[in-house]
Amino acid sequence: MPSQPRLQALDTILGRPPAPVSAPAPLEELWASDVFSLEAMKSALPKPVFKSLQRTITHGGKLDTSVADVVAQAMKAWATRRGALYYAHVFYPLTNLTAEKHDGFIAPQGDGSVISEFTGKLLVQGEPDGSSFPNGGIRSTFEARGYTAWDVTSPAYLMQTPNGITLCIPTVFVSWTGEALDKKTPLLRSNAAMDRQARRLLTLLGETEIARVNSSCGAEQEYFLVDSAFTALRPDLQLAGRTLFGAPPAKGQQFDDHYFGAIPERVQVFMQAVEHQLYRLGIPAKTRHNEVAPGQFEIAPFHEAANVATDHQQLIMTVLKATAKQHGFTCLLHEKPFAGVNGSGKHVNWSIGNSTQGNLLDPGSTPHENLQFLLFCGAVIRGVHCYGPLMRAAIATASNDHRLGANEAPPAIISVYLGSQLEDVFQQIRSGSLQGSAKAALMSLGVDTLPELNKDPGDRNRTSPFAFTGNRFEFRAVGSGQSVAGPLVVLNTILADSIEWIADQLEQLLHTGLPLEEAAFAVLKQTMEAHGAVVFGGDGYSAEWHRIAVEERGLENLRTSADALPVLKRPAIRELFERTGVLSPVELESRFEVYAEQYILAIEVEAKLVLRIARTQIYPAVMAALEQLAQSIASQEALGLPVDRSQVEQIAQLCQQLLSSCQALESDLAAAGGDVDAHLRHCADALLPRMGAVRSAVDALELLVDDALWPLPTYQELLFQR
Ligand code: ADP
Ligand code: MG
Repeated sequence: MPSQPRLQALDTILGRPPAPVSAPAPLEELWASDVFSLEAMKSALPKPVFKSLQRTITHGGKLDTSVADVVAQAMKAWATRRGALYYAHVFYPLTNLTAEKHDGFIAPQGDGSVISEFTGKLLVQGEPDGSSFPNGGIRSTFEARGYTAWDVTSPAYLMQTPNGITLCIPTVFVSWTGEALDKKTPLLRSNAAMDRQARRLLTLLGETEIARVNSSCGAEQEYFLVDSAFTALRPDLQLAGRTLFGAPPAKGQQFDDHYFGAIPERVQVFMQAVEHQLYRLGIPAKTRHNEVAPGQFEIAPFHEAANVATDHQQLIMTVLKATAKQHGFTCLLHEKPFAGVNGSGKHVNWSIGNSTQGNLLDPGSTPHENLQFLLFCGAVIRGVHCYGPLMRAAIATASNDHRLGANEAPPAIISVYLGSQLEDVFQQIRSGSLQGSAKAALMSLGVDTLPELNKDPGDRNRTSPFAFTGNRFEFRAVGSGQSVAGPLVVLNTILADSIEWIADQLEQLLHTGLPLEEAAFAVLKQTMEAHGAVVFGGDGYSAEWHRIAVEERGLENLRTSADALPVLKRPAIRELFERTGVLSPVELESRFEVYAEQYILAIEVEAKLVLRIARTQIYPAVMAALEQLAQSIASQEALGLPVDRSQVEQIAQLCQQLLSSCQALESDLAAAGGDVDAHLRHCADALLPRMGAVRSAVDALELLVDDALWPLPTYQELLFQR
C-alpha cells in the first residue's frame, strides 16, 4: 500500500470531477480572433498607412514614426475594445523563456484624471530594466537598461488569462549599446544573411525575379503530463523538472501500447483547451497524439515563417504549462523527466523559400528545379559538415544531454540523412558518373538523367539527428524545453555561409566560360568530395557508427554540454558569426557565458536537491523500514521461527552506499568553482556521476523498502495515473 501522502494524492486524483467536455467552437469563430493580424490592420488602418506597414513587413526597414502613431492608435482601440487594460512588450531573453514588461494604457493628467494613451513611440520602443536578465557580461549594471523594439513581422495579440487581458507586442531586446540580449535579434539577422546569399545564388542560376527568401519552421513539441497532486510530492519535479530518483516500473513502454493509442479523455479535454487558445492566437496547431512513453504526448503546428513560428512556439510552451495547471496536470517540457523512459524532443522542420521560386529545398519535378534543389541541398550538406559541432552547441543544455550522447537517440554526432534515393544521387555526383564523358553532352548525360526525385521518401530514418524529409530538413536533436530560435539561427547562418561558398565557386567557373549546368555539377562534385563524409544513412545509435564517425569520417562526438559549449569560442565560429553579421564577437562570447552558467546552475541545483531528498526524505524512510524489520525479526526470534536477514542486510548495505555517496557528492559540490571551463567540466565529470551513485542506491532501496514508508510517488503512479 502506498504511503499516507501518496494515498492522499491518489484520493485527490480519483476524486477529481470529470473534466467538463464541451464541443469546440467553430474554427472560423476562433481563428486568430485575438490577433491584430494583417487582416485586422487592413480594416482598421487608412489605406496609405496600411500599405506602408505592409511594405515594412515584407521588405524590412524602419517603421516611419507617423505610421507608427496611427498603427498604435488603431492597435489600442482594437485591444481596449476587447477589454485590455495593459500592454506588454514581449521578448525572448537567453534563458529559453518568454519575458514581458506590462504597462498600463493610462496616462495621469495634471488635474488628477487619467486618459488612456498609447503612442507610436510606446509601440515601437520600450525600456524594461534589463539587469535581471542574463547578458554574459555585455552590460555593467550602470548601463542596465535594455531596449525592446517591436518586430513588425510578428503580429501583436491579446493574452487572455483569468486575471485579465493584455495586449502583447513581440519585440527584440537589445542593450543601449545595440548588442542583442535576446534570441529574436540574431534570428532576424540570420534570416537576412541567408536571404542575401540565396538571392545571389538564384541570380547565378539565371533567375531574374527573386523575392525575399525566408526560412520556415514547423516544430513538433513533445511533453509529459503528470497529475499535479503527485508533482506536489516531488520536489525534484517542482524544481528541476525531472525525477532525480525513481525505480523503473514493472511495466514501461515496452508494450508499445501508448503511441497513437486512444488519447485518455482527461488529456483530450486538456488538449482541446490548449488548441482553443492557440487558434485564438492564430497558431495553426495541426496534429496531436500520444507519444511513445506512457504519459507522453505531442502537439505540432503547421509550419510558418521561422520568426513567427518561433514566437508561436514560445506561446505553445506557455499555453501548455498554464492550461495543464488549470486541468490538474503538470506539463513537463524537460527532455528526460524519467530515467529509462523515452525522452522528449522538439523536431524542428526547417526549409527556405520565397514567393517567386517557392521552397528551395523542394526537389521539384523538372531537371531545372532539380539543379536549384541540388545546389541548395548541397549547401546544407556542406554547412552541416563544416559546422556540425556548432549545431551540437546550439542544442547543448544540461537537460538535453540526457538524450544526446546518452543511451538515447538522437546521437550527439551530427550527420545528415538524405534517404536512399537522394543519397544515391549525391554519391553519383561525387563519383562523377552523372557527368558522362563528353563535356558537351553534359546536359543530356547530366541533368536529364537525374531521376525524378521522390518528395516523400518512405524510408524515414529515426536514428538521425538531422534528416531530409521530402522538402525540408528535420533537426531532431533539439530539446523539448528549448527555444527553437538558437537552432534556427545556426541553420540559417551555416546555410548563408555555405551558399556563399557555393556561389563563389560557381561564379569563378562561370567566368571561365563553362556552361551553367557543367559548372554547377563541378561545384556539387567538389562539395561532395570535401563534405560527403557527413552523409550517413545507417543506424545512428549503433556502436559501429560511433566508431566510424569519429575514426574514419572525422566527425566530432561531443557527448556533453561541457564538450559542446566551448565550440562557441572557436575562432572559426567567431569568424562565421561576425562575417555573416549575425552575432558580434562580444555577443557570441556573452552567449557562451550565459549558456555555460545555465548548465552549471542546472546541475548544481539538481545536486543540492539530490542531497536534500536523499537525506531528509529517503534516509528517514529507510531507517523507519529497518526499525520495522528489526522488530519483526525480534518477534520471529522470540517465537523461535527461522529468521531470514537477507533483506535487512541488503537494505543496510544500500543505506551505507547512500550515505557515503551523499558525502562524496557534498564534498564535490563544495569543491566546484574555478574558471567557467573548469566549472563546466566539474559538473559533467564529477557531479553528474556522483548524483548517479546516490540515485542507484535510492532506486535499489525503493524496491526493498515497505511501500507504505516510501515518500516519493513512484514511476508507476506518475506515468500511469490519469
Ligand atoms: P512527422 O512525420 O515528422 O511526425 P508531422 O507531420 O507531425 O511529421 O510534422 C511535420 C512538421 O513539419 C509540421 O509542423 C509541418 O508543418 C512541418 N513542415 C512540413 N513541410 C515543411 C516545410 N517545407 N518547411 C518547414 N516545415 C515543414
Ligand atoms: Mg517528426
